[in-house]
Amino acid sequence: MAKLHHPHTVGMTSKMKLHPVGAATRRKLEKAARNAAKRAYAPYSRFRVGAAVLMNSGRIFTGGNVENASYGLCLCAERAAIAAAVSAGERLLRAVAIFTPTPVPTSPCGACRQVIGEFGRDALVISICESKGRFETRLPELLPESFGAKNLARRQRKAVRPRG
Ligand SMILES: [Zn+2]
Repeated sequence: MAKLHHPHTVGMTSKMKLHPVGAATRRKLEKAARNAAKRAYAPYSRFRVGAAVLMNSGRIFTGGNVENASYGLCLCAERAAIAAAVSAGERLLRAVAIFTPTPVPTSPCGACRQVIGEFGRDALVISICESKGRFETRLPELLPESFGAKNLARRQRKAVRPRG
């Protein structure tokens, strides 16, 4: 996996005016992701993942993967963390850190990329692992030409609304 390095600030090219993510916040976020993995519910895969999301308010929310005996219902750590943040009233995601119990860092799955994009179109994505290896990028690089709210034009939404 290629190691990508990007500026340590977010929002430079974003219309969302995200606050920058400083080194101390970044460390805090990564630590939160590591700790969240300890609380993951992964009795089937034993692949305990932790995620921490930094919202634009500065608050951090965490999640671990939540597996189910019906395997298809497994929930990724990233989406668990985002659900916690959104449930607390947060809407703008600045950065997400993902810890996987692997020797090399792991990128978020396709479903999580889409969900990260819903709240953080230009989010900083940090992947960390058991070694010192890390991978850092921005969501548009992981999900180019993405589908999003922009594709649901007002006219189209109107068309699917029931009449009367
Ligand atoms: Zn995922």
